Amino acid sequence: MLINIMYHHANSDACSNPLPMLERHLAYIATHFTTVFPGDSLEKPSVCLTFDDGYSDFYFLIFPLLQRYNLKALLAVPSAYLLETCDAQPQTRMGFKHDDLFANWQKGTFCTVEELKIMLRSGLVRIASHGHTHTNLLETDVDLGQELLASKEILEARLETSVESFVFPFGKHSPALVAQAKAHYSYVFRIGNALHQDFLGIHGVNYRVDGDNLRAPDALFTWQRLLKYRFKGWLKRMRRA
Ligand SMILES: [Zn+2]
Repeated sequence: MLINIMYHHANSDACSNPLPMLERHLAYIATHFTTVFPGDSLEKPSVCLTFDDGYSDFYFLIFPLLQRYNLKALLAVPSAYLLETCDAQPQTRMGFKHDDLFANWQKGTFCTVEELKIMLRSGLVRIASHGHTHTNLLETDVDLGQELLASKEILEARLETSVESFVFPFGKHSPALVAQAKAHYSYVFRIGNALHQDFLGIHGVNYRVDGDNLRAPDALFTWQRLLKYRFKGWLKRMRRA
């Protein structure tokens, strides 16, 4: 059994969990599941933690929790907003409202190349492409070559790592876009409720349940939730079979 979970922030004003809640949630996962990267073998009940956008709070607040509980996480990074380093104070960098983070990327609202490399070296973090500019790929004037392929090449060159996963910005995708993404990536992710058997996904796509705004540390893992994910996953498999 595999559950992919999507998160964004800790301690932000949107798409977030308070840090103590996130810590209790991750402690629950460390006790009951094995965390895996895409492509890992799934011998035990497994969770793939995925964090979107690579905001600076991931480095300052969330990465220390991954280290404390020895958890792996996939970080989905848009390649256009990478500073090499940043001297600004962590509290300043994390102090922007969620909706202002992209506009202020040059002030260090995202993890820097230096920070991403530190996390990669830990072995607990791998990088996925989240497009280049973090745009809705279904819009008509999108440069798909830039968003799908150049983003991978930029991340691989700057971070000196391989990028095998793509996470659709806003979860926006189509069967044609999935096919195009699959030409460059082994694993593609979207948003949605499903339990998985493996990283081949459902019709080639890995669904991620929403881990932001948790009401309880184990809220995603109650039997009712697991039944819902199983049923929704089954429906998705049937729909386009
Ligand atoms: Zn995103």
